[in-house]
Amino acid sequence: MKTKLSDKKNIAILGSTGSIGTQALDVIRANKDAFSVEVLTGNGNADLLIKQAIEFDPNTVVIADESKYQYVKDALAPHDIKVFAGNKAIAEVVQMDSIDMVLAAIVGYAGLESTLSAINAGKQIALANKETLVVAGDLVTKLAKEKGVNLYPVDSEHSAIFQCLAGEFHNPIEKIYLTASGGPFRGKDKTFLSTVKKEQALKHPNWEMGAKITIDSASLMNKGLEVIEAKWLFGLKPEQIDVIVHPQSIVHSIVQFTDGSMKAQMGLPDMKLPIQYAIGYPNRMKSDFPRFDFLTHPQLTFEPADIKTFRNLALAFEAMHKGGNAPCILNAANEIAVAAFLKDKIGFLQMSDVVGNCLQTVAHIAKPSYEDYVETDKETRRIAKEFLNF
Ligand code: NAD
Ligand code: MG
Repeated sequence: MKTKLSDKKNIAILGSTGSIGTQALDVIRANKDAFSVEVLTGNGNADLLIKQAIEFDPNTVVIADESKYQYVKDALAPHDIKVFAGNKAIAEVVQMDSIDMVLAAIVGYAGLESTLSAINAGKQIALANKETLVVAGDLVTKLAKEKGVNLYPVDSEHSAIFQCLAGEFHNPIEKIYLTASGGPFRGKDKTFLSTVKKEQALKHPNWEMGAKITIDSASLMNKGLEVIEAKWLFGLKPEQIDVIVHPQSIVHSIVQFTDGSMKAQMGLPDMKLPIQYAIGYPNRMKSDFPRFDFLTHPQLTFEPADIKTFRNLALAFEAMHKGGNAPCILNAANEIAVAAFLKDKIGFLQMSDVVGNCLQTVAHIAKPSYEDYVETDKETRRIAKEFLNF
């Protein structure tokens, strides 16, 4: 049995093979005296998971894809590392006594169960998995409050708001502005969008991210999900949340207080910064990330979001206003839409069509239980697939 040094923060990284997961490991590699890796989990990329495990020497590794269990187990046999498989195992290992913090960086609805399980066990959460709050924000935030768990945002916009709120104690927020880059298709019309292929949508101008969030950024669904995420993280009313397009991605978001004063957080677009702030909170640790230079960015510009062309953002606001299971419907329909688009089965604009259709057809539940969310997710996926013939 391995014993871990108690002065380090022991972290479980869920989704360690993804964009956020690998960048979190970069941050940890550069700060080995502050953090130790207790758990790593991945899904498809078994070789990377094995490589990470050999480097970071965690207590436990879980491969979600059960067909790869034997492969990972054999590769790690010479090492003193436990290996499990499946999503149930992820939800169980996050409750280990030795874990101080869980970085929830699985993509999509698949991350909900393990995040809830970690909160139930009282683990601090660094939250990248925004879909968790979109689907079941009421349950997640209520449980976190009950268990004395803080949700430290990893999403750059929410980290920006969180950083702007430091030292403000209970000064009320008047409103927040979430900034959006506008994605690769900013300024384009529907005729153009009807022709775009995944290769174009996967080229984000400012950020390197996993495929799903990159498509969401191109369709503005990412900003829609973030609006709902912000509502739950900061306890806001829908009217208090606004979106402003800022193509340079330097101002990461803005808080306006009741005296009219506005605070913004700025920096080059680099997810390592919000990851490090979330896992290192309340400390600002030294970093060698490239610094912003005003002279290479003489102009920071702002413009309204085009919600007529990019319907997803309007649909997300609609779902947030409707409340209950509507955001869960929005999310499930979108996950199917993005998967279909990434397989070249549907066009870019059809993604909004299926989300709009599901919001109309799936039964609304005003105060859903966890089981209602599970059922809503399942039913919406079924209807979305049927609608898209996918
Ligand atoms: P990614 O696709 O690069 O990585 C996802 C990770 O989750 C991988 O480790 C994958 O193996 C794992 N995974 C996928 N499906 C799974 C399943 N069914 N069960 C268990 N594990 C599974 O995604 P990402 O870009 O790192 O994004 C992760 C989360 O962080 C998303 O919710 C995203 O919205 C959010 N986020 C990402 C960024 C970014 O810059 N990448 C920024 C802000 C927020
Ligand atoms: Mg973001």
